[in-house]
Amino acid sequence: MRKPIIVGNWKMNKLSKDAMDFVKEVDGKLHDAGDFGIAPPYTALWTAQHYAENLIVAAQNVHFEPSGAYTGEVSIEMLQELGIKWVILGHSERRQYYNETDEAINKKVKVCLENGLTPIVCVGETLEEFEADKTEEVVRRQTRDCLANLEGDVNSIVIAYEPVWAIGTGKSATKEIAQDTCALIRDELKNVLSQEAAETIRIQYGGSVKPDNIAEYLAQPDVDGALVGGASLKVDSFLELVNAVK
Ligand code: PEP
Repeated sequence: MRKPIIVGNWKMNKLSKDAMDFVKEVDGKLHDAGDFGIAPPYTALWTAQHYAENLIVAAQNVHFEPSGAYTGEVSIEMLQELGIKWVILGHSERRQYYNETDEAINKKVKVCLENGLTPIVCVGETLEEFEADKTEEVVRRQTRDCLANLEGDVNSIVIAYEPVWAIGTGKSATKEIAQDTCALIRDELKNVLSQEAAETIRIQYGGSVKPDNIAEYLAQPDVDGALVGGASLKVDSFLELVNAVK
């Protein structure tokens, strides 16, 4: 049995004070049937981590080098200084706007595992690829390339399947698409990692998940939770997502 995991990706939203209010409001209302987390912007990570006892606090990115001339970037050690143990990698907005490649994501996954951080690795096809029937090819390639040649606790990795055409668009994938694609990713995990990893690794669906549609995704055998943008920003709707996990 894989424990469901729901993580809110706050993107470039909220100040430290907002993070403090949110965590104080939500942290005591979580339950043990799932793992729940938020990914605030860098500037609010310390505050969120400081007030969180139960919530996972994840960064939205990290650099693969330990230090150096990388203006605007943040290293693993910098996150660790704040107590951060989780990080989202390869979100489609980073791939699209900042040209992040599978190769760079692979380096990031490696340094996370070497340093005891848990990565949430995002994969997913664009609208063009979806319409050209290339979803399987794309997600298998991304899974393979992002997770190549890993050492360490690979079973702790979380994958987020996020069709790019469903992110922030209000157009969610059907539960059948979410299930079928998560099953393909799980199958690829067997090839790139192992049978055990394929059975253990949790795969989230992400893309316009809301309180009124999360239950249908969670009911799918290969969907182990959700990565949520818009609906994770308000306390009430975040808690509705939390309470959809039984
Ligand atoms: C996301 O940012 O990962 C996401 C899925 O956003 P939204 O839920 O708003 O589509």
